[in-house]
Amino acid sequence: MKAVAAQEQACSCMWELPRKDIWRCERCHVYRKGKQEFVSVTRVSKALLPTDYAAIDPITLKIAMVRGILVDQYFTEWLVQGDDNMIPLADVPEMIAPQFPPERTDGTPVDRMRFAIDTAERTMLLIAWWKAQGWTATAIHRIVYDERAGVAGETDVETEGRILDLKVVSAIQPNYELQLGGYLELDGGEKQGAVIHVTKEFVRLVPYNAQRARMRWRSGLDWYWTKEGMLT
Ligand SMILES: [Zn+2]
Repeated sequence: MKAVAAQEQACSCMWELPRKDIWRCERCHVYRKGKQEFVSVTRVSKALLPTDYAAIDPITLKIAMVRGILVDQYFTEWLVQGDDNMIPLADVPEMIAPQFPPERTDGTPVDRMRFAIDTAERTMLLIAWWKAQGWTATAIHRIVYDERAGVAGETDVETEGRILDLKVVSAIQPNYELQLGGYLELDGGEKQGAVIHVTKEFVRLVPYNAQRARMRWRSGLDWYWTKEGMLT
């Protein structure tokens, strides 16, 4: 946990009054409960199995990040409010286009409207796919945590038997299994874990073997703390 404190020391949330319930700081993404600080499942997963983005233009990564956040946001709104109270997705591109970066690193302009339309289209694909599954969301953005392990995470969406994580990406990364394993382990129940993979062309379910994912998470977390201890 020392490493978390070192990386997040710039954030003022550590000076806030301790809260009884667990919460996540929107600025630095650290979880806190009372005086305890928790490392996040995603941080551990990415530290154990980092994705090499060195060859990709940072602006491309930024665009993908903005798109992922927006698809999640509108999908969540739809899950909570349903069709009737949802902003028409046709109106969305104009609203969200300014959130994308205006130009590439080399100064060439970004076609923000194109990415905004793509974002709305992926959201529509995702909603149609979800409807076709016939699932009911039993939890949306639920925090799961373990005080003894000092770890917390937030699931995207859950059904009765599944913990699901939304990934609006071109390629599935090895650390997703660890991430799901972490949520399943912190949940402590009998649920299955899967990624909902959202691309431009399709939406599909990528299921993981819950037992194996949880086992890999446990040994990964053990190594994470071992390494933290060796570096401090
Ligand atoms: Zn903070």
